[in-house]
This record gives sequence, structure tokens and C-alpha cells, in this order.
Amino acid sequence: MANKENNISINPNAQVIFNRKKSAPISVGDLMIGIEKGDRYILSKAITLVESNQIEDQSIANQLIDFCINKKPESLRIGITGTPGVGKSTFIDTLGTQIINENHKLAVLAIDPSSNISRGSILGDKTRMERLSMNLNAYIRPTPSADNLGGVARKTRETMILCEAAGFDTIIIETVGVGQSETAVYQLTDVFLLILQPGAGDELQGIKRGIMEMADILAINKADGERLSMAKFAKAAYTSALHLFQPKTSNWIPKVLTCSSTEENGILDIWNTIQSFQNLTIANNYKINKRNHQKLYWFEETFQNKLLNFYLENKEIADYKEELEMKILADTVTPFLAVDKLLQKIIDKYQK
Ligand code: GDP
Repeated sequence: MANKENNISINPNAQVIFNRKKSAPISVGDLMIGIEKGDRYILSKAITLVESNQIEDQSIANQLIDFCINKKPESLRIGITGTPGVGKSTFIDTLGTQIINENHKLAVLAIDPSSNISRGSILGDKTRMERLSMNLNAYIRPTPSADNLGGVARKTRETMILCEAAGFDTIIIETVGVGQSETAVYQLTDVFLLILQPGAGDELQGIKRGIMEMADILAINKADGERLSMAKFAKAAYTSALHLFQPKTSNWIPKVLTCSSTEENGILDIWNTIQSFQNLTIANNYKINKRNHQKLYWFEETFQNKLLNFYLENKEIADYKEELEMKILADTVTPFLAVDKLLQKIIDKYQK
């Protein structure tokens, strides 16, 4: 204590100077102007506020989102998924460079729920997307940390809105197939790409059927060197597998394409296919309908999560739920009757 007082008496302004530096106050108005101007430093500050769990940061973030939501340009949101090692970052580096060469501004965001647990398989320590990370027309932002996938998805969606308001007209959101993360990316984007790599005869193994169904474009990467013939085989196998699925409501017939991200072969073809998808779905209103549907999806998801948390924060209800869980395991109550009992408890408590 004496030490602390001594320190202050040595330099009474130290604390003030430190505070001023640390908080470097930027008003909400400055943040809005900076975002509109496409100032990357301000954009990063704003995203940090969106990612923050502090109540006061969240209130500023909400004002920013409100402001930005009407500022966004016509944008294209691309979802990309694939297992680790399939070549996602190399692919995005090559595709992204192509996109920027056509005078677009690109933001790359990631959803990686595993990163909170295992220190990340996406955007981890290794340098990814070397060319994009040096390009001023690209903005790369790693996965926000959050306790659950819903939290990560919300932060990613809000980050995307800020990036769009800052003039990034093309957004790539990538994920590895962990939990329901592909569904989250699907619900955030306009077009969905599944990246695969050629394997020897076991093409369809290990790919969740639901992901194949969601995909608009299947890209078989690493179609080079001795893998070239395997890639052609994989293309035929996936093309015939896709015939088994229902036609898409977008009227788009999913395409299977081969590419080499390292040799930069086939990437332009994939970009052209993404644009064909975009043109078709703008013309037939699928894009706008999907985006509207997504807004309601996130409303519903967030509402259900928050409602559940609201009730379970009440100790009496949380305890009763635990008690019911024990009874379910002991077969003294069925899961369905237990739900009715839990609901009745909630009604009794909150109707008073
Ligand atoms: P991610 O984990 O899905 O992001 O995969 P990476 O982009 O980190 O790639 C994993 C490995 O595959 C790296 O060694 C890449 O150099 C390699 N790779 C990526 N794309 C290609 C490609 O088109 N051809 C070949 N031969 N190797 C590739």
C-alpha cells in the first residue's frame, strides 16, 4: 500500500496519462464516420466492440449495427466449408485474389467453434492466406470467442454487417465441419461451397449428407500432379451422388468442379460459377427471400436461447429441471411428462 502511494507521489499524472492512452476515446459518431469511410483501424475497433461482452460496449455496438444495417452495399456472401487440411485457406487465398483483381473488396471471417476449446484449427498460429493478408482490399478477421456457437454466429453476423458498411462488397465466411457450424454458415451466406479433396475410392465417406445437400458448389481441390485422375473420378462420383437429392428451391442445379489452389487452375471457373449462381438467384428473387428467411432464423434462434437462459437463471427452476432429469433416468417420469411438469412450474412461478 505504502509502495502504491509512493508511486503515485512520484508521478501523480501517470494514472491519468495511462487511462487517456488506454481508452483513447472514439465517439460513436467518429466510429460511424470511420466505418463509412472504410477506415480499417476504426472498423477493427468497431468489431472489437461487437465482440465484447461488456454491457457498455454492447450498447455502443448496438448503435453501430443500427446505423450500419442500412448502409450496406449490394453484397455477395459466400460460405465455405471443408475438413481441416482440404486446402480451404489456400483456396480462399487464390479465389480471394481473383475476386480483388476484379475490383471487389473482400472480408474473410471464420466460424470455428472448436477454437475456444482446442486453440483453433482455423486461423490459428500458422500464417494463412499470405497474399490476402498483405492486400489492402482484403480484411481478415479470426473467429470471435464465445461460449457457444450461437454467440459466435451472432458476432460473425454483426461483424459482416460492419464490414459491408465499410465497403467490403464480398464476404467469405469459412468453417470446419464441427457441430452445427455449417448450418450457421449456411444461414449467414447466399451461396455455399463445400471443398473436398480426391481420395482413393472412398469419395462419399465421412461427408455428412446434410452438408452435401446444403452445398451449391462442390469444389474438388488438389486436382494436380498424381491426384489429377483421382480428382476426375471424385467429380463423377459426387455428380452422380447429387442426383439423389431433391431439386433446390433456388432452381440452381449444384455443380461439381475440380481445381488446384496451389497451381491456380479451375479457380476462375469456380468464381464464374459463383457469379452465375448470384445472377440466377437475384433474377428469381431467391437471394432476397433467403436473406429474409435468415433474419427470421436468427431472430428465432436468439429468442429461444435467451428465453431458455432467462428461465434457467432462476435457481428454483434450474433445480427443478435437475430433479426431473434424475426422475427421467430413474424411469419414474417420461421425458415428455417431465416437460409438461417443468412448463407448469414456470407458468405457476411467472403468472403470480
Ligand atoms: P485448410 O486446413 O483446409 O485451411 O488447408 P490448407 O489451405 O492449410 O492446406 C493444407 C495443405 O494442403 C497445405 O500443405 C497446402 O499447401 C496443401 N494444398 C492446398 N491446396 C492445394 C492444392 O490445390 N494442391 C496441392 N497439391 N496441395 C494443396
